[in-house]
Amino acid sequence: MLLGHYGIAFAAKRMAPRTSLGTTIFAAEFLDELWPMLLLLGIERVRIAPEAVGSLRFVYYPWSHSLAMAIVWSLLIGAAYFALRRYGRGAWIIGGAVLSHWFLDVPVHLADLPLWPGSHVFVGFGLWKSIPATIAIELAFYLGGLAIYLRTTRARDRIGTWALWTMVVVLAAFYAASLVSPPPPNVPTLAVMTLGLWLFIPWGWWIDRHREAIA
Ligand SMILES: [Zn+2]
Repeated sequence: MLLGHYGIAFAAKRMAPRTSLGTTIFAAEFLDELWPMLLLLGIERVRIAPEAVGSLRFVYYPWSHSLAMAIVWSLLIGAAYFALRRYGRGAWIIGGAVLSHWFLDVPVHLADLPLWPGSHVFVGFGLWKSIPATIAIELAFYLGGLAIYLRTTRARDRIGTWALWTMVVVLAAFYAASLVSPPPPNVPTLAVMTLGLWLFIPWGWWIDRHREAIA
């Protein structure tokens, strides 16, 4: 899943108004932000499989995408956020956003999400086999989250409007491109392209500075 995680990041802003959108994006997409680094380090493995849905087979990714590690990351990031910001509500929401990633991946992934590193139990309902169902669930979370965000914040200036809408369109275009483009030539290229997800964190911070909570 891609867009759906950003929907969670948008919605999280309502639950923790003092937390930046950049931070909620970091949290909701953390497992996918971590994954390309583990690929480049050779710790996790993916196989480019043009015949597979999304052209990828997730061979081994327990450190970024097992339930147990999602819980560990969620606790660590929630605790780190609390240590830095002393905002308890924000810390709970940030931790929850990290964990939400795994539960949003379950319906769409094939049965390749491990419960813990070394586990032989893999989950995933495989909605990816149906392109219309995949798009429907992605858009439901994305647009639902965005609608909540729009009712929670308003632009302070023009940047607050344009920076937000540009990101909304770029993310949607990124997702659309991933559906129609040919498979990546090799794993390092895929990993480097995926590292581009980190750009949306400062982008979210930038948006956040130009918008304010609706009282
Ligand atoms: Zn993921």
